[in-house]
This record gives sequence, structure tokens and C-alpha cells, in this order.
Amino acid sequence: MSVTSAITGLPAVRQEIVRACADARRDPAGVTLVAVSKTFEATAIDPVIAAGQTVFGENRVQEAKGKWPALQAAHPGLELHMIGPLQSNKVKEAIALFDAIHSVDRPSLCEALAKEIAKTDRRPLLFLEVNTGAEPQKAGVLPQDADAFLARCRDGYGLAIGGLMCIPPHDEAPAPHFALTAKVAARNGLKLLSMGMSADFPIAIAMGATHIRVGTAIFGGR
Ligand SMILES: *Cc1c(COP(=O)(O)O)cnc(C)c1O
Repeated sequence: MSVTSAITGLPAVRQEIVRACADARRDPAGVTLVAVSKTFEATAIDPVIAAGQTVFGENRVQEAKGKWPALQAAHPGLELHMIGPLQSNKVKEAIALFDAIHSVDRPSLCEALAKEIAKTDRRPLLFLEVNTGAEPQKAGVLPQDADAFLARCRDGYGLAIGGLMCIPPHDEAPAPHFALTAKVAARNGLKLLSMGMSADFPIAIAMGATHIRVGTAIFGGR
């Protein structure tokens, strides 16, 4: 094993993905690891790129804009995913910067995304965030509102949503929240599920996650 990969948690996370997929009789190729590099500088990201990781997640447009263009120039083929709340006035920058947005959560944002996407040749992969715990402080549409929201995105704004994303309440068992998200996706014919973080990604894989967002287990504590 190379020195660069040994100093990150990436090999252990990869092993855990393979194990969770074997347990769930899933092909590991069906699980995209989004390495969440928020708050970490390029010097911490470099070894993870050197170890072969190509998909990264950030939660702030401003921070991503500061560190990713140089990394992308140095390493063609990297994919950058937006996983945090997105303000409508940052949509133009977000479309230019990100290959996927996991945090679509309100009609006004859909409208802004649709308008901006129409002006560009960029087609970011979009996930609708579902607030499965109905937590007032958390972004996302309520599970019972998701079907109507998806129809409105599609028919009202011509916006193709590829999947659903959830962040379970941190004081609850995540499995029921993952199961609910998977159920809402299935009844809407959506194939992609962004769910699972450092503490619970093996459970998310067992419940069908196609994209796991893992920060701490790769980069260490923030
Ligand atoms: C920070 C963050 C993650 C990664 O969390 P870890 O516990 O560090 O793995 C995943 N998803 C979202 C939306 C985040 O903001």
C-alpha cells in the first residue's frame, strides 16, 4: 500500500463498502463514494486523489470555488458534488462548479436551477432532499409532499430529478429513514439514493444507497 493512501481513512472505507455490498448481495460498482472534503484544504485532499478517489462533496459554494478549480485543473476527470443547502443567488456558480446537487429542496430553487441549466450545456445530476424526520430546522420536502414536488419539478420546470437524498435525525436509528427514502424513490420511479454518512453508510448500503457521503471516516474529524 502506498504511503499516501495509508494516511487517509479511504482504504478502510473502501473495505467497508465492499463488505456491506457483499452482505447485501450488491455490486460495489453500484455505490458511488462521495468523499466529503468540506473544511479540508487541498493538502489534505491531495493524498485522497492520489489514492484514486475521483468523486468529492462540498457543502458551500464559496469554499468549493476557492479550492476546487486548481485541483480540477491538476487532476482532470474529478467529479464535484454539492451536498449542502443552496441559495438561489448561488445557483449560477453552483451549476458551473458542480456535477451533482444533492440538496434540491424547494420550488424556487427548482425554478432557478431550470433557468440556469437552460442557459448552459451543464446537466448536473439532481437529488431531491427529503426531510424524513420532519425536523423543523432541516431542509428538504416532507415525505408526504415528495410526489407532488417531483411532479412539479418535472411538469412545471422541466427539471429532471435523478434521485432522493436524506439526512436522518442524528439521535434516531437511521434505518427507518433510509427505508422511507427508498420507498418514496421507488414509487416515483427514481433509481438514485444519496444516503449514508461516516456513522451509518453500511446500513444505507443495505437499504439501497447508490451514493454515500462520507467525510470524517476518510479525512478525520473536523
Ligand atoms: C458533512 C456532511 C456529510 C459527511 O458527514 P461525515 O459524518 O463527516 O461523514 C454528509 N452529508 C452532508 C449533507 C454533510 O453536510
